[in-house]
Amino acid sequence: MCLLNVKNLNLVFKIDGKEYKALHNVSFTLSEGEMLALVGESGCGKTMTAMSILGLLPANAGIISGEIIYNKRNLLLLNEKEMRSIRGREIALVPQDPMTSLNPLYTIGSQIMEVMELHRNLKGKEAQKAAIEVLEQVKIPNAKERLKSYPHEFSGGMRQRVIIAMAIACNAGIIIADEPTTALDVTVQAQIMELLKEIQKEHKTSFILISHDFGLVYEAADKACVMYNGHIVENSTSEELFKNPKHPYTKALIKTLPDFNSVKLEAIEGQPPSVKDIFTGCPFESRCKYRMPECASVMPEYKKINDSFVSCLLYEARNS
Ligand code: SF4
Repeated sequence: MCLLNVKNLNLVFKIDGKEYKALHNVSFTLSEGEMLALVGESGCGKTMTAMSILGLLPANAGIISGEIIYNKRNLLLLNEKEMRSIRGREIALVPQDPMTSLNPLYTIGSQIMEVMELHRNLKGKEAQKAAIEVLEQVKIPNAKERLKSYPHEFSGGMRQRVIIAMAIACNAGIIIADEPTTALDVTVQAQIMELLKEIQKEHKTSFILISHDFGLVYEAADKACVMYNGHIVENSTSEELFKNPKHPYTKALIKTLPDFNSVKLEAIEGQPPSVKDIFTGCPFESRCKYRMPECASVMPEYKKINDSFVSCLLYEARNS
């Protein structure tokens, strides 16, 4: 069942009185119990896409067209009060740095119990019992005792578990995990991803995983949208993307992954474009090993190729 449908989302940033387009016709669907990744280099538009869904855009950003359909309602037409009742309760955010969501002045217990009261109408002993249960679900040892701890008494990985516990506490149907493991060391990263996969399975929670790490996306996500310069350039299952990548940028991203048979890591040549760069042709053209003369002047369309969607003139030529 389709839970979220993002259709032709276009977003602009206002910088020094000028408007620059940061998202170009971004479209994808998220089904119940599915993990969808938005993957690409920093500045490619993945976080702006997620913040559009949550209604948490910076003051200088604005959506100029498109729809975000959730539960038969277009989220872009809701007022702040209506969005507040969805945010956290139905669509929760697990941020890169858990300290941005935890208040250092209050105990972990009081913060989780506040969520219980706000979203599940539980109070006192009932809220405390439910808080212990969610902490146990995210595998925090001595959960009852740890309710009295403050955020600074937890490690980075443990703090991330608390944030995930808060998302479960609200019974959120969709969790947006924005680079949830970037700030953690490798072994803790794997444990957090394992925990998210368990929640996905046990609670049938849908996830939007935002990551620059294609290896992590391949291991964790069911589907992935590869983003470049505010465009989705390829959208497919993670397996298809990895085993049979179509877009030259997806191919280049895969080559950046460590290969145990080789000590050499391949970097993508050149720099990702800035939001201020304006293109009449393909935005990846200056970095693309497959570029053709027309790539500099013709903007590729987003087309269905077998079970994938791809935006590249190589495929338009082949299918015309
Ligand atoms: Fe490369 Fe051209 Fe395809 Fe762009 S449209 S990715 S430049 S081949």
